Amino acid sequence: PIVLGIESSCDETGVGLVRNGRLLGHALASSMDEHARFGGVVPEIAARAHTHALRPVIRQALDAAGLRLADVGAVAVTTGPGLSGALQVGLAGARTLAYALGVPLYGVHHLAGHVAADTLGHGPLPDPCVVLIVSGGHTSLLLVRDLARDPILHLGDTLDDAAGECFDKVARAFGLPYPGGPAIDRAARAGDPRAVAFPRPLPGSYDFSFSGLKTAAARWAEGHAGRELPVADGAASLQEAVADVLTRKAVAACREHGVGTLVVVGGVAANSRVRSLAEERCRADGIELRVPPLGLCTDNGAMIAAVGDLLVRAGAEPAPLDVSIDPSAPLEYAALHPVASL
Ligand code: ATP
Ligand code: MG
Ligand code: FE
Repeated sequence: PIVLGIESSCDETGVGLVRNGRLLGHALASSMDEHARFGGVVPEIAARAHTHALRPVIRQALDAAGLRLADVGAVAVTTGPGLSGALQVGLAGARTLAYALGVPLYGVHHLAGHVAADTLGHGPLPDPCVVLIVSGGHTSLLLVRDLARDPILHLGDTLDDAAGECFDKVARAFGLPYPGGPAIDRAARAGDPRAVAFPRPLPGSYDFSFSGLKTAAARWAEGHAGRELPVADGAASLQEAVADVLTRKAVAACREHGVGTLVVVGGVAANSRVRSLAEERCRADGIELRVPPLGLCTDNGAMIAAVGDLLVRAGAEPAPLDVSIDPSAPLEYAALHPVASL
C-alpha cells in the first residue's frame, strides 16, 4: 500500500507518500518566519500554522506524487515527541483521513522518522547500525537494529542542550539570524576553525553537553564589546568544536560495538563541517557513512511515511483510532501507540 505520512511536531507541516521504501512525493510548509522575531518556536503560533497548512500540504504532496487521496492505503503520523498543540493538529488530520478512507493508522516516533529518512535516499538500513541524531531538540547516539521490530538502544544523550539549540543560541549571541545553524554554517566558511579554542566536553563518554560550549561562545562574544566581533572565526571555531565532539563519539561507538555503518540524521546533519569531519573519520576507520539528502535531514513528512511503510511491511499492529499524542515520548520503538488516556 501507499503510506501517507504527516509530520507536525514542531514548526514544519510535512506530508510524504512512500511505497515499498520509495519516496513518491512530498510537500512541506514552515512557520519558521513567524517565529523568527521571538528567537525560537512559539508553540501556539506553530499549532495555528499547522491548522492552516495541513490541507494544502496534503494536496501538494498528492499532486507531487501524481496520486489521489483514494490511492492512500495507510496513514502514519508523528504522535511524539514534540509540542502538544502542534502534534494534536497532525494527529487530528491523520485520524480523520484514516477513518474516512477506511485505512490503518500508525503512530510514529519523531526520532525514528529522522532515522528512516536515510532509507529514502540510500535503501534499507543495515542491521545493526549506529545512528547519531542531531537536531534542534535532540542529540543522541543510538544502536539501531530492525527499526520496525526491535527496541532502539540509547548509547548516549545530551545532558543539557541539543547541538542545534547550541548553534541557534550562539548565533543569537553573534548577531546572526534565526535559525542559527545554517547562519553559523555560512559564516564559518570565511573563518579559521583554530581561531578560538572552545571546550570539548565529556571526553570518553557517549553523552554530550553543549551548555558549557554555548556559554564559552557567548563569553567570547561579550569579550569583544566595543570592538568588531570576528564572527567568521567564532562561527568556524564553534562549528569545529561541535563537529569534533559529535563525530569522535559516533565513530568510537561504531568501533566499540563492531558496527560498520554510521548514520547521521537530524537538522544538524545538514552542517557542512559535521558532514566533512564524519566522512574523514569514517573513512579512516573503514566505516560506511550514511547521511540523508539535505532536504530530508530537517523535519519532513516523507520520513514519517517511511517509518509507516516499514511498519506496514513488517506486519505491525496499527494504532487504535483514539490513539493519543505523547509529547515527551522516550525513544524505544519506532511505532508509538500510547494507550488512549480517556
Ligand atoms: P527535533 O527534531 O529534535 O524535535 P527540530 O525539529 O528543531 O528538533 P530539525 O528540524 O531536525 O529539528 O533541525 C533543526 C535544527 O537544525 C535547528 O537547530 C537548526 O539550527 C539546525 N540546522 C539546520 N541546518 C544546519 C546547518 N547547516 N548547520 C548546523 N545546524 C543546522
Ligand atoms: Mg524544525
Ligand atoms: Fe526533528
